[in-house]
Amino acid sequence: MTYQVTLIPGDGIGPEVTEATKRVLEATGVSFHWDLAYAGGSAKDRFGTPLPDYVFESIRKNKVALKGPVTTPVGSGFRSVNVALRKGLDLYACLRPCKTYPGVPSPFKDVDIVVVRENTEDLYSGIEFEEGTPEAVRLIELISKTTGNTVREDSGFSIKVISVTCSRRIVRFAFDYARAHQRKKVTAVHKANIMKFSDGLFLAVAGEVAKEYPDIEFENRIVDNMAMQLVRNPQQFDIVVAPNLYGDILSDLCAGLVGGLGVAPGANLGDDLATFEPTHGSAPKYAGQNKANPMAMMLSGVMMLHHLREMQAANRLENAIAEVIAEGKNVTYDMKPNIPDTQVVGTSQVADAVIEKLKELKNA
Ligand code: NAD
Repeated sequence: MTYQVTLIPGDGIGPEVTEATKRVLEATGVSFHWDLAYAGGSAKDRFGTPLPDYVFESIRKNKVALKGPVTTPVGSGFRSVNVALRKGLDLYACLRPCKTYPGVPSPFKDVDIVVVRENTEDLYSGIEFEEGTPEAVRLIELISKTTGNTVREDSGFSIKVISVTCSRRIVRFAFDYARAHQRKKVTAVHKANIMKFSDGLFLAVAGEVAKEYPDIEFENRIVDNMAMQLVRNPQQFDIVVAPNLYGDILSDLCAGLVGGLGVAPGANLGDDLATFEPTHGSAPKYAGQNKANPMAMMLSGVMMLHHLREMQAANRLENAIAEVIAEGKNVTYDMKPNIPDTQVVGTSQVADAVIEKLKELKNA
Protein backbone atom coordinates (compact mmCIF):
# COMPACT_ATOMS: atom_id res chain seq x y z
CA MET A 1 0.00 0.00 0.00
CA THR A 2 1.11 3.56 -0.71
CA TYR A 3 0.40 6.24 1.90
CA GLN A 4 -0.70 9.66 0.68
CA VAL A 5 1.01 12.20 2.92
CA THR A 6 0.98 16.00 2.71
CA LEU A 7 4.59 17.20 2.72
CA ILE A 8 5.28 20.77 3.87
CA PRO A 9 8.99 21.61 3.58
CA GLY A 10 8.58 24.93 5.42
CA ASP A 11 11.13 27.72 5.73
CA GLY A 12 14.76 28.20 6.76
CA ILE A 13 16.31 24.81 7.48
CA GLY A 14 12.92 23.18 6.82
CA PRO A 15 13.51 22.07 3.19
CA GLU A 16 16.86 20.45 4.09
CA VAL A 17 15.63 18.50 7.12
CA THR A 18 12.46 17.56 5.23
CA GLU A 19 14.43 16.17 2.27
CA ALA A 20 16.67 14.16 4.63
CA THR A 21 13.61 12.78 6.42
CA LYS A 22 11.82 11.92 3.20
CA ARG A 23 14.87 9.92 2.10
CA VAL A 24 15.12 7.87 5.30
CA LEU A 25 11.37 7.23 5.39
CA GLU A 26 11.49 5.92 1.83
CA ALA A 27 14.50 3.77 2.75
CA THR A 28 12.39 1.91 5.35
CA GLY A 29 10.59 0.26 2.42
CA VAL A 30 7.23 1.84 3.25
CA SER A 31 5.74 3.43 0.15
CA PHE A 32 4.64 7.09 0.15
CA HIS A 33 3.07 9.46 -2.29
CA TRP A 34 4.07 12.96 -1.19
CA ASP A 35 1.52 15.68 -1.76
CA LEU A 36 3.78 18.75 -1.78
CA ALA A 37 2.32 21.84 -0.10
CA TYR A 38 3.89 25.21 0.66
CA ALA A 39 3.22 27.15 3.86
CA GLY A 40 4.96 30.07 5.54
CA GLY A 41 7.41 32.45 3.87
CA SER A 42 7.84 30.11 0.89
CA ALA A 43 4.06 30.19 0.25
CA LYS A 44 3.86 33.96 0.74
CA ASP A 45 6.52 34.43 -1.95
CA ARG A 46 4.71 32.10 -4.38
CA PHE A 47 1.03 32.74 -3.68
CA GLY A 48 0.88 36.00 -1.69
CA THR A 49 -0.42 34.23 1.41
CA PRO A 50 1.52 32.23 4.01
CA LEU A 51 -1.25 29.66 4.31
CA PRO A 52 -3.09 28.89 1.06
CA ASP A 53 -6.41 27.03 1.38
CA TYR A 54 -5.02 24.05 -0.51
CA VAL A 55 -2.77 23.25 2.48
CA PHE A 56 -5.86 22.65 4.61
CA GLU A 57 -7.54 20.77 1.75
CA SER A 58 -4.53 18.53 1.27
CA ILE A 59 -4.27 17.62 4.97
CA ARG A 60 -8.03 17.05 5.26
CA LYS A 61 -7.84 14.74 2.25
CA ASN A 62 -4.69 12.80 3.24
CA LYS A 63 -5.31 12.96 7.01
CA VAL A 64 -1.55 12.88 7.63
CA ALA A 65 1.12 15.53 7.06
CA LEU A 66 4.86 15.72 7.56
CA LYS A 67 5.81 19.31 8.17
CA GLY A 68 9.04 21.26 8.35
CA PRO A 69 9.28 24.36 10.53
CA VAL A 70 7.78 27.61 9.33
CA THR A 71 9.03 31.12 10.11
CA THR A 72 6.70 33.45 11.99
CA PRO A 73 7.70 37.13 11.90
CA VAL A 74 8.19 38.47 15.45
CA GLY A 75 5.97 41.35 16.61
CA SER A 76 4.43 42.25 13.24
CA GLY A 77 3.82 40.57 9.86
CA PHE A 78 1.63 37.54 9.27
CA ARG A 79 0.22 35.53 12.18
CA SER A 80 1.63 32.12 12.98
CA VAL A 81 0.94 29.53 10.29
CA ASN A 82 1.47 26.84 12.91
CA VAL A 83 -1.18 28.22 15.22
CA ALA A 84 -3.58 28.68 12.27
CA LEU A 85 -3.03 25.08 11.10
CA ARG A 86 -3.41 23.57 14.57
CA LYS A 87 -6.54 25.58 15.29
CA GLY A 88 -8.04 25.32 11.79
CA LEU A 89 -7.68 21.52 11.74
CA ASP A 90 -8.46 21.19 15.45
CA LEU A 91 -5.16 19.39 16.08
CA TYR A 92 -5.71 19.86 19.77
CA ALA A 93 -2.98 17.66 21.21
CA CYS A 94 0.69 18.38 20.72
CA LEU A 95 2.76 15.37 21.64
CA ARG A 96 6.47 15.93 22.28
CA PRO A 97 8.46 12.93 23.49
CA CYS A 98 11.83 13.80 25.01
CA LYS A 99 14.08 10.86 25.64
CA THR A 100 17.85 10.49 26.02
CA TYR A 101 19.48 8.35 23.36
CA PRO A 102 22.93 7.11 24.41
CA GLY A 103 25.55 9.44 22.94
CA VAL A 104 23.56 12.68 22.97
CA PRO A 105 25.30 15.66 24.56
CA SER A 106 23.44 15.84 27.88
CA PRO A 107 24.39 15.67 31.54
CA PHE A 108 21.32 13.48 32.05
CA LYS A 109 20.68 9.80 31.39
CA ASP A 110 17.43 7.89 31.30
CA VAL A 111 15.13 10.83 30.74
CA ASP A 112 11.91 9.71 29.09
CA ILE A 113 9.28 12.42 29.33
CA VAL A 114 6.34 12.98 27.03
CA VAL A 115 5.01 16.53 27.03
CA VAL A 116 1.34 16.75 26.07
CA ARG A 117 0.59 20.35 25.18
CA GLU A 118 -2.89 21.79 24.61
CA ASN A 119 -2.74 23.25 21.13
CA THR A 120 -5.77 25.42 20.47
CA GLU A 121 -6.34 28.01 23.19
CA ASP A 122 -4.64 29.75 26.18
CA LEU A 123 -2.54 32.79 25.24
CA TYR A 124 -2.55 31.48 21.65
CA SER A 125 -6.24 32.39 21.34
CA GLY A 126 -5.21 35.04 18.82
CA ILE A 127 -7.50 37.53 20.61
CA GLU A 128 -5.34 40.61 20.89
CA PHE A 129 -5.89 44.35 21.15
CA GLU A 130 -3.14 46.61 19.94
CA GLU A 131 -2.09 49.47 22.19
CA GLY A 132 -3.79 52.77 21.35
CA THR A 133 -6.57 51.30 19.16
CA PRO A 134 -10.23 52.21 19.88
CA GLU A 135 -10.82 48.54 20.87
CA ALA A 136 -8.01 48.67 23.44
CA VAL A 137 -9.40 51.92 24.85
CA ARG A 138 -12.89 50.36 25.14
CA LEU A 139 -11.45 47.31 26.85
CA ILE A 140 -9.63 49.51 29.37
CA GLU A 141 -12.92 51.31 30.10
CA LEU A 142 -14.78 48.01 30.46
CA ILE A 143 -12.16 46.66 32.88
CA SER A 144 -12.31 49.82 34.92
CA LYS A 145 -16.14 49.76 35.07
CA THR A 146 -16.56 46.06 35.80
CA THR A 147 -13.62 45.39 38.12
CA GLY A 148 -12.57 48.78 39.45
CA ASN A 149 -9.02 48.04 38.28
CA THR A 150 -7.01 50.71 36.53
CA VAL A 151 -5.07 49.65 33.45
CA ARG A 152 -2.47 51.97 31.91
CA GLU A 153 -3.73 53.74 28.77
CA ASP A 154 -0.69 52.63 26.80
CA SER A 155 -1.37 48.91 27.31
CA GLY A 156 -1.77 46.20 24.68
CA PHE A 157 -3.67 42.98 25.40
CA SER A 158 -3.34 39.29 24.58
CA ILE A 159 -6.24 37.33 26.01
CA LYS A 160 -5.70 34.01 27.77
CA VAL A 161 -8.63 31.67 27.22
CA ILE A 162 -8.95 28.28 28.94
CA SER A 163 -12.14 26.26 28.56
CA VAL A 164 -13.52 23.22 30.37
CA THR A 165 -14.00 21.48 27.02
CA CYS A 166 -10.41 21.86 25.80
CA SER A 167 -8.91 21.19 29.24
CA ARG A 168 -10.92 18.00 29.58
CA ARG A 169 -10.03 16.63 26.17
CA ILE A 170 -6.29 17.33 26.52
CA VAL A 171 -6.08 15.82 30.00
CA ARG A 172 -8.06 12.78 28.78
CA PHE A 173 -5.68 12.54 25.85
CA ALA A 174 -2.73 12.51 28.27
CA PHE A 175 -4.26 9.77 30.43
CA ASP A 176 -5.32 7.68 27.42
CA TYR A 177 -1.81 8.01 26.03
CA ALA A 178 -0.38 6.98 29.42
CA ARG A 179 -2.57 3.88 29.48
CA ALA A 180 -1.89 2.91 25.87
CA HIS A 181 1.86 3.22 26.40
CA GLN A 182 2.10 1.61 29.85
CA ARG A 183 3.17 4.85 31.48
CA LYS A 184 2.68 5.36 35.20
CA LYS A 185 2.15 9.00 36.02
CA VAL A 186 0.60 12.20 34.67
CA THR A 187 1.76 15.60 35.98
CA ALA A 188 -0.48 18.61 35.26
CA VAL A 189 1.33 21.95 35.06
CA HIS A 190 -0.32 25.28 35.87
CA LYS A 191 -0.08 28.62 37.64
CA ALA A 192 -3.44 28.29 39.39
CA ASN A 193 -2.24 30.19 42.42
CA ILE A 194 -2.18 33.39 40.33
CA MET A 195 -4.58 32.76 37.40
CA LYS A 196 -7.46 31.26 39.30
CA PHE A 197 -10.12 31.38 36.57
CA SER A 198 -7.98 30.06 33.72
CA ASP A 199 -5.22 27.85 35.15
CA GLY A 200 -7.43 27.18 38.19
CA LEU A 201 -10.06 25.83 35.84
CA PHE A 202 -7.48 23.69 34.00
CA LEU A 203 -6.27 22.21 37.30
CA ALA A 204 -9.78 21.52 38.60
CA VAL A 205 -10.72 19.74 35.36
CA ALA A 206 -7.46 17.76 35.42
CA GLY A 207 -8.25 16.58 38.95
CA GLU A 208 -11.74 15.48 37.87
CA VAL A 209 -10.46 13.59 34.82
CA ALA A 210 -7.73 11.92 36.90
CA LYS A 211 -10.42 10.21 38.99
CA GLU A 212 -11.47 8.28 35.85
CA TYR A 213 -7.97 6.74 35.69
CA PRO A 214 -7.27 5.26 39.14
CA ASP A 215 -4.57 3.01 37.65
CA ILE A 216 -2.39 6.04 36.78
CA GLU A 217 -0.80 8.30 39.35
CA PHE A 218 -1.73 11.98 39.11
CA GLU A 219 0.08 15.00 40.51
CA ASN A 220 0.30 18.70 39.73
CA ARG A 221 3.08 21.27 39.76
CA ILE A 222 3.14 25.05 39.58
CA VAL A 223 5.00 25.90 36.37
CA ASP A 224 7.96 27.75 37.91
CA ASN A 225 8.62 24.93 40.36
CA MET A 226 8.18 22.48 37.49
CA ALA A 227 10.92 24.21 35.49
CA MET A 228 13.29 23.98 38.45
CA GLN A 229 12.46 20.33 39.18
CA LEU A 230 12.86 19.37 35.54
CA VAL A 231 16.46 20.57 35.50
CA ARG A 232 17.23 19.08 38.94
CA ASN A 233 15.65 15.66 38.62
CA PRO A 234 13.93 15.06 35.26
CA GLN A 235 13.74 11.29 35.76
CA GLN A 236 10.87 11.77 38.24
CA PHE A 237 8.54 12.85 35.41
CA ASP A 238 6.67 10.63 32.98
CA ILE A 239 3.76 12.29 31.12
CA VAL A 240 3.45 16.06 31.53
CA VAL A 241 0.21 17.75 30.49
CA ALA A 242 0.02 21.52 30.20
CA PRO A 243 -1.91 24.40 28.67
CA ASN A 244 -0.51 25.77 25.43
CA LEU A 245 2.13 28.29 26.55
CA TYR A 246 3.65 26.29 29.43
CA GLY A 247 3.62 23.23 27.18
CA ASP A 248 5.50 25.16 24.50
CA ILE A 249 8.16 26.41 26.90
CA LEU A 250 8.54 23.16 28.84
CA SER A 251 8.86 21.08 25.69
CA ASP A 252 11.86 23.19 24.62
CA LEU A 253 13.24 22.85 28.15
CA CYS A 254 12.80 19.07 27.98
CA ALA A 255 14.40 19.04 24.52
CA GLY A 256 17.40 20.73 26.16
CA LEU A 257 17.57 17.94 28.74
CA VAL A 258 17.86 15.24 26.10
CA GLY A 259 20.40 16.75 23.72
CA GLY A 260 18.73 19.82 22.26
CA LEU A 261 16.23 20.77 19.61
CA GLY A 262 18.08 18.72 17.00
CA VAL A 263 16.68 15.51 18.51
CA ALA A 264 13.22 16.61 19.72
CA PRO A 265 10.33 15.34 17.58
CA GLY A 266 6.65 16.19 17.76
CA ALA A 267 3.15 15.50 16.53
CA ASN A 268 -0.06 17.52 16.44
CA LEU A 269 -3.05 15.25 16.72
CA GLY A 270 -6.78 15.74 16.32
CA ASP A 271 -9.56 13.19 16.29
CA ASP A 272 -8.75 12.06 12.76
CA LEU A 273 -6.01 14.34 11.39
CA ALA A 274 -2.33 14.41 12.31
CA THR A 275 0.72 16.46 11.43
CA PHE A 276 4.24 15.46 12.38
CA GLU A 277 6.91 18.11 12.86
CA PRO A 278 10.01 18.73 14.94
CA THR A 279 9.80 20.92 18.05
CA HIS A 280 12.42 23.27 16.61
CA GLY A 281 11.82 26.27 14.41
CA SER A 282 13.24 27.30 11.05
CA ALA A 283 16.64 28.41 12.46
CA PRO A 284 17.05 30.92 9.58
CA LYS A 285 20.73 31.53 10.30
CA TYR A 286 21.53 27.95 9.22
CA ALA A 287 19.25 27.90 6.15
CA GLY A 288 20.80 26.43 3.01
CA GLN A 289 24.06 25.46 4.73
CA ASN A 290 23.56 21.68 5.02
CA LYS A 291 24.26 22.16 8.71
CA ALA A 292 21.04 21.52 10.68
CA ASN A 293 20.40 18.27 12.47
CA PRO A 294 17.63 16.37 10.65
CA MET A 295 17.11 13.86 13.49
CA ALA A 296 14.27 15.75 15.19
CA MET A 297 12.35 15.65 11.93
CA MET A 298 13.38 12.02 11.27
CA LEU A 299 12.11 11.08 14.74
CA SER A 300 8.87 12.91 13.91
CA GLY A 301 8.81 10.58 10.89
CA VAL A 302 9.15 7.65 13.31
CA MET A 303 6.08 8.98 15.14
CA MET A 304 4.28 9.18 11.80
CA LEU A 305 5.14 5.54 11.03
CA HIS A 306 3.71 4.54 14.43
CA HIS A 307 0.57 6.52 13.63
CA LEU A 308 0.28 4.65 10.32
CA ARG A 309 0.70 1.37 12.27
CA GLU A 310 3.96 0.64 10.40
CA MET A 311 5.51 -0.57 13.65
CA GLN A 312 8.40 -2.56 12.18
CA ALA A 313 9.54 0.29 9.98
CA ALA A 314 9.13 2.74 12.87
CA ASN A 315 11.27 0.65 15.21
CA ARG A 316 13.90 0.03 12.56
CA LEU A 317 14.17 3.73 11.72
CA GLU A 318 14.37 4.72 15.40
CA ASN A 319 17.08 2.09 15.99
CA ALA A 320 19.02 3.27 12.94
CA ILE A 321 18.95 6.88 14.20
CA ALA A 322 19.90 5.74 17.72
CA GLU A 323 22.88 3.79 16.34
CA VAL A 324 24.11 6.77 14.32
CA ILE A 325 23.89 8.89 17.48
CA ALA A 326 25.66 6.26 19.59
CA GLU A 327 28.50 5.88 17.06
CA GLY A 328 28.94 9.65 16.98
CA LYS A 329 30.77 9.63 13.62
CA ASN A 330 28.04 11.01 11.38
CA VAL A 331 26.36 13.65 13.50
CA THR A 332 25.82 17.39 13.09
CA TYR A 333 27.53 20.22 15.00
CA ASP A 334 24.92 20.39 17.78
CA MET A 335 25.63 16.81 18.84
CA LYS A 336 29.31 17.55 19.39
CA PRO A 337 29.61 20.86 21.21
CA ASN A 338 33.14 22.28 21.43
CA ILE A 339 34.38 20.16 18.52
CA PRO A 340 35.66 21.86 15.32
CA ASP A 341 33.23 21.93 12.40
CA THR A 342 35.63 19.76 10.41
CA GLN A 343 34.80 16.81 12.67
CA VAL A 344 31.04 16.90 12.19
CA VAL A 345 28.91 16.19 9.13
CA GLY A 346 26.04 17.96 7.39
CA THR A 347 22.31 17.31 7.14
CA SER A 348 22.43 15.12 4.03
CA GLN A 349 25.36 13.01 5.33
CA VAL A 350 23.31 12.19 8.44
CA ALA A 351 20.58 10.89 6.13
CA ASP A 352 23.17 8.79 4.23
CA ALA A 353 24.41 7.30 7.53
CA VAL A 354 20.88 6.50 8.73
CA ILE A 355 20.09 4.83 5.38
CA GLU A 356 23.26 2.70 5.70
CA LYS A 357 22.19 1.66 9.20
CA LEU A 358 18.72 0.79 7.93
CA LYS A 359 20.31 -1.53 5.36
CA GLU A 360 22.47 -3.18 8.03
CA LEU A 361 19.48 -3.65 10.33
CA LYS A 362 17.45 -5.18 7.50
CA ASN A 363 20.23 -7.67 6.66
CA ALA A 364 20.99 -8.50 10.32
P1 NAD B 1 14.68 27.70 16.33
O1 NAD B 1 14.22 26.41 16.91
O2 NAD B 1 14.47 27.89 14.89
O3 NAD B 1 16.23 27.88 16.59
C1 NAD B 1 16.82 28.10 17.84
C2 NAD B 1 18.25 27.58 17.81
O4 NAD B 1 18.22 26.17 18.03
C3 NAD B 1 18.95 27.74 16.47
O5 NAD B 1 19.58 28.95 16.34
C4 NAD B 1 19.93 26.60 16.50
O6 NAD B 1 21.04 26.97 17.26
C5 NAD B 1 19.17 25.53 17.23
N1 NAD B 1 18.49 24.59 16.33
C6 NAD B 1 17.16 24.57 16.03
N2 NAD B 1 16.91 23.54 15.21
C7 NAD B 1 18.08 22.92 15.00
C8 NAD B 1 18.46 21.77 14.23
N3 NAD B 1 17.57 21.05 13.52
N4 NAD B 1 19.76 21.42 14.21
C9 NAD B 1 20.66 22.10 14.91
N5 NAD B 1 20.36 23.17 15.67
C10 NAD B 1 19.09 23.58 15.70
O7 NAD B 1 13.97 28.85 17.18
P2 NAD B 1 13.86 30.42 16.92
O8 NAD B 1 15.17 30.95 16.45
O9 NAD B 1 13.26 30.95 18.15
O10 NAD B 1 12.78 30.55 15.77
C11 NAD B 1 13.08 30.75 14.39
C12 NAD B 1 11.78 30.78 13.62
O11 NAD B 1 11.13 29.52 13.69
C13 NAD B 1 10.77 31.82 14.14
O12 NAD B 1 10.18 32.44 13.03
C14 NAD B 1 9.75 30.97 14.88
O13 NAD B 1 8.47 31.56 14.89
C15 NAD B 1 9.77 29.71 14.05
N6 NAD B 1 9.30 28.50 14.77
C16 NAD B 1 8.55 27.63 14.05
C17 NAD B 1 8.14 26.45 14.63
C18 NAD B 1 7.33 25.50 13.78
O14 NAD B 1 7.20 25.70 12.59
N7 NAD B 1 6.77 24.46 14.36
C19 NAD B 1 8.50 26.15 15.94
C20 NAD B 1 9.30 27.05 16.64
C21 NAD B 1 9.70 28.24 16.04
